[in-house]
Amino acid sequence: MSNNLPKVAYFCMEYGLDTSLRTYAGGLGILAGDYLKGAKDHNYPIVGIGIKWKQGYTDQMIDEDGRPYDTYHNYEYDFLKDTGVKVTVKIRQRDVVCKVWEVDKFGNAPLYLLDTDLPENEDSWITGQLYGWFGEERIAQEMVLGIGGIKALRALGIDIDVYHFNEGHAVFAGLELLREKMDKGMSFEEALKATREEIVFTTHTPVIQGNESHYLDRLMYMGANNGLTIEQMVQIGGSPFNMTVAALKLSRISNAVAQLHCKTANKMWEHVDNRSEIIGITNAIHLPTWVDERMIDAAENDGDLWETHMDNKKKLIEFVKERTGAELDSDKLLIGFSRRAAPYKRSNFIFSDESVIDPLLKEGKIQLVFSGKAHPLDDTGKKIVENIVKMTKKYPNSVVFLENYDMTIGKMLTRGSDIWLNNPRRPKEASGTSGMKAAMNGVLNFSILDGWWPEACEHGVNGWQFGDGFESENVQEQDAHDLKALYKVLLEEVIPTYYDNRDKWVEMMKNSILSTKDKFAVKRMLEEYYNEMYM
Ligand SMILES: *Cc1c(COP(=O)(O)O)cnc(C)c1O
Repeated sequence: MSNNLPKVAYFCMEYGLDTSLRTYAGGLGILAGDYLKGAKDHNYPIVGIGIKWKQGYTDQMIDEDGRPYDTYHNYEYDFLKDTGVKVTVKIRQRDVVCKVWEVDKFGNAPLYLLDTDLPENEDSWITGQLYGWFGEERIAQEMVLGIGGIKALRALGIDIDVYHFNEGHAVFAGLELLREKMDKGMSFEEALKATREEIVFTTHTPVIQGNESHYLDRLMYMGANNGLTIEQMVQIGGSPFNMTVAALKLSRISNAVAQLHCKTANKMWEHVDNRSEIIGITNAIHLPTWVDERMIDAAENDGDLWETHMDNKKKLIEFVKERTGAELDSDKLLIGFSRRAAPYKRSNFIFSDESVIDPLLKEGKIQLVFSGKAHPLDDTGKKIVENIVKMTKKYPNSVVFLENYDMTIGKMLTRGSDIWLNNPRRPKEASGTSGMKAAMNGVLNFSILDGWWPEACEHGVNGWQFGDGFESENVQEQDAHDLKALYKVLLEEVIPTYYDNRDKWVEMMKNSILSTKDKFAVKRMLEEYYNEMYM
């Protein structure tokens, strides 16, 4: 089928293909990795463009005082293929050479990674740390990804019909597509029109600060304008130059990553004129990577779901013991929670009212396993981690924190927990693919109606919601409302079902698996990308 389908180059700052390849930080990268694996499985003509990060994202550990600290290591890989291709990007008036590596080891469509760590480069540090830096360094990284990425495709001789920017980081690729056309004699306006026909864009976080912008004088000084005038740059990205705005203006169509996020994103970018339409294409996951096929099989063929689940739960408990020494009990309700420690995700929310949570933990009614990194420069996020670690000291047998969250931890937790807690401030969670992993493993979602969950949730049937979709501009009001709702559903529905109605619980596990396994599989997402964006 690939012969007559549009050929796509997917640009992303990070790719989560495997724990051993440190080119990812979180959900954005996991999506990109799963997308490339799906492209391979279903034979789509797609290639990925990314960066070979020398030190990856932070390895974040917990010190003796219970505080997170960041460590960095130089990673070397023996499985990257040297394409023999090098391209040059002019950054700050200096030529920066980017070597192009190929990764195909993880059942993925070809991924090309650019690397500036070469003896001939004065600026070899550019591809040093993923999301480690802001300002000039971040711009340089994005120039390598965008401008270098287009040049790499040309040098590799790969024909492309559609350029898909996963997040705004890749926007300078659009400026390189413009430059190519203007070099051939097109005017700026003609080139803009033609370039827009080739680009599609996926927008992510609705958190304002998560949508990067740069001062124009800095972009001009770096050379990121790629030959465009300051007026032309303002026309594309505004002033300061907002990467998301630019991507919306450079693309022919855009998508948000869930249906609720589609509404949020349209509201958020309402003021931008001449932008592409934003449609909703909900994220999805690569099942062979994340889901225990025995669970799918048991759900489809009336197998023993509970027994298989207990096997996964015991494996998680063993893993927790090896990593932390804590001994959890496989007969007690195990609540999993892992995600980036960002304030809107409220990672330590469940501890908010001690009079409710203390007896539950002391009596051993519930056990909590957490994981998640804070961004290295996010002190508020680090405080949240510190708070959770404090709780592990207070309740050593029922609260656990696994340091240095990665794909291995993600896989263990979304298979072995009994329920999957998610309590962001709606509507800040764009999608949240960890909940999909959990759902398909028969781990019941217990979540605010945010991100993907409103599309799947049948309360009391395949999982639970709390908060009824309440939103408020007033953070205290929203937190108070959601906390009450969380405790109510936990105490009145989740805990009694777990301990007193095992049959219903197992029925819910089955419903969870069967209602999500196709709808949130990467196959569906790729079909929608092709039908609604690429063709
Ligand atoms: C699945 C996964 C994510 C993304 O999940 P969210 O629900 O968006 O947090 C992030 N990091 C890792 C390691 C994962 O496995």
